[in-house]
Amino acid sequence: MASEIKDISLAESGMRKIEWVRRNCPLLTMLTEEFARTKPFAGQKIALSVHLEAKTAYLCLTLAAGGAEMYVTGSNPLSTQDDVAAALVSQGLEVHAKYNVTPEEYDAHIRAVLSCGPNIIIDDGGDLVHMMHTQMQDLIPGVIGGCEETTTGIIRLEALNREGKLRFPMVRVNNAMMKHLFDNRYGTGQSVWDGINRTTNLIVAGKTVVVAGYGWCGRGVAMRAKALGARVIITEIDPVKAIEAVMDGYDVMPMAQAARLGDFFVTVTGCNKVIDEEDFSNMKDGAICCNAGHFDCEVDIAWLREHAIQTQAMRDNIVGYQLPDGKWIYILGEGRLVNLACGDGHPAEIMDMSFAVQALCAKYLVEHKGQFDSMLMDVPAQVDMEIARKKLAFLGKEIDTLTEEQERYMNESGL
Ligand code: NAD
Ligand code: SAH
Repeated sequence: MASEIKDISLAESGMRKIEWVRRNCPLLTMLTEEFARTKPFAGQKIALSVHLEAKTAYLCLTLAAGGAEMYVTGSNPLSTQDDVAAALVSQGLEVHAKYNVTPEEYDAHIRAVLSCGPNIIIDDGGDLVHMMHTQMQDLIPGVIGGCEETTTGIIRLEALNREGKLRFPMVRVNNAMMKHLFDNRYGTGQSVWDGINRTTNLIVAGKTVVVAGYGWCGRGVAMRAKALGARVIITEIDPVKAIEAVMDGYDVMPMAQAARLGDFFVTVTGCNKVIDEEDFSNMKDGAICCNAGHFDCEVDIAWLREHAIQTQAMRDNIVGYQLPDGKWIYILGEGRLVNLACGDGHPAEIMDMSFAVQALCAKYLVEHKGQFDSMLMDVPAQVDMEIARKKLAFLGKEIDTLTEEQERYMNESGL
């Protein structure tokens, strides 16, 4: 099938972005060179749905260097960068993705990449797996397995697996230490504030920031808000995470109370309606809300759209909604992932680690085809450790090694 992108003449700009990424992703560069020699994906078709910006493009080129036939789409209508999509097409990959597509076009692009009959699936949020299991089941026998990038995608896979409905093996990439410890925490922490700051151009110091959810992402978003000089309030449903937030020095309270105090609100829960009608009516005039969790239902934009007496487009990616009582609430990036809809997502050095996990897990799936004894797997510990050792070396850091005596001391019972 022919690629569907906005404009192939944008390819040069996309290639420049990818070159910057290449210079800052030593793990992927190392894997590209290795794969070019060993061709682990020769004869394999890979369908990929991940935010289509330059880091993702470099992952695609790494897999293509290993001999894979790549079929690529985005994983969110607002995170696709048209110049990057064009760059991949200029390198001979098949791409179905455009910025700001409708839900129908988004689904058509997912269907288009799957229609290649993939052997490996690389998914971010479960859209490829869902389409495959609901509308393209005839292609399932050709699938060796797949990899899932994010927390919410894994929650969906676990539900499918519990119900006995998952029909090919999937690797929980997010659960690797070299993924969530850095990507979810430091990646989301930095890129959410990058997205908010470049979109609003407002000061954070001295403001009150409410972070909903104190999981891996929430910890990072709160940590960076504090570093920017904000007062930080956490909302949670899990008492353990709430205590952790208290001990980390934040205030904790229900959203109904926090709504009255916040200047900025960031949801990172994977849940829905975390900020709802009641919360909007409690907010201050001018409150700014955004989401960095999975979907655009964490902040109940649907309610705002229905009940606002007027809306006003402000700067790019800021829409104001005026409530019947006269006050304005501002929503960034249509309530979609603020770091990707209003920015370039996580920094290159972070995606270098996440995507090295992806690339090595894809290789693992090919090498162990048909040998998996469960449908849902964790990233093999040796993959996590190999990436950690290499990354540490690229960071120019060294660590100690246990002596024989220390190993005995740590591992033997002494009885
Ligand atoms: P996590 O499970 O570590 O944390 C989620 C937290 O939210 C938990 O502590 C949970 O108790 C809390 N929570 C759930 N419902 C809540 C509610 N109604 N109110 C308050 N707190 C609630 O997950 P994570 O890895 O931090 O990921 C969070 C979300 O962000 C997921 O949807 C994930 O897919 C997404 N994610 C986004 C990015 C990004 O680039 N924006 C990166 C990684 C993950
Ligand atoms: N389909 C979902 C996707 C969840 S996004 C949606 O509706 O948007 C969460 C994932 O995005 C994270 O696990 C993170 O690894 C990934 N991500 C963050 N920054 C990225 C970037 N710059 N490039 C590609 N993926 C990125």
